[in-house]
Amino acid sequence: MNRAVLNRAVFLDRDGTINEEVHLLHEPAALRLLPGAGKAIAVLNKSGFKVLVVSNQPVVARGLCTEKEVRAINDRLRKLVAGEGGKIDGFYYCPHSTLAEVEAYRLDCDCRKPKPGMLKQAAKAHDLDLRASYLVGDMARDILAGKEATGHAGLDCQAEARADFECADLPAAVAWIVGREGK
Ligand SMILES: [Mg+2]
Ligand SMILES: [Zn+2]
Repeated sequence: MNRAVLNRAVFLDRDGTINEEVHLLHEPAALRLLPGAGKAIAVLNKSGFKVLVVSNQPVVARGLCTEKEVRAINDRLRKLVAGEGGKIDGFYYCPHSTLAEVEAYRLDCDCRKPKPGMLKQAAKAHDLDLRASYLVGDMARDILAGKEATGHAGLDCQAEARADFECADLPAAVAWIVGREGK
């Protein structure tokens, strides 16, 4: 592996960013893509970014859904996005919660956003340059995880939960990222 050539990623939150927010989504049939999400991912693919989904799934800790079902939902998401020409390069999810009903998942883990564990795990697996990567999400915890992982949280890791760019949806975020890279 040539370490000099690192990949850049756009990390995407899942629920409310790529697909419609459904409270405690736990079955594939309930999954709906947000308008333009698949096409926006295709634009990122063409621009040379790895597209990696990073999602907290406390539904597992609550016992509403197994990890197998989370993976089934992710598979359906991958297919819906592919139907619009987009490719998701990897999925990461955190099934843990300190308040979990299911004991096996009752854990103060490093992967639950706002912690940057999933992004760091992905960085190793995909040889990412995190400083040159982006995160798009719809919650403060997404922004904080992105800032910390990309080294923009300050020396004390006390990032403000404020995005570098705020917009209505994923297509608008992708237009901003791609426009910025073109300069
Ligand atoms: Mg979300
Ligand atoms: Zn976790």
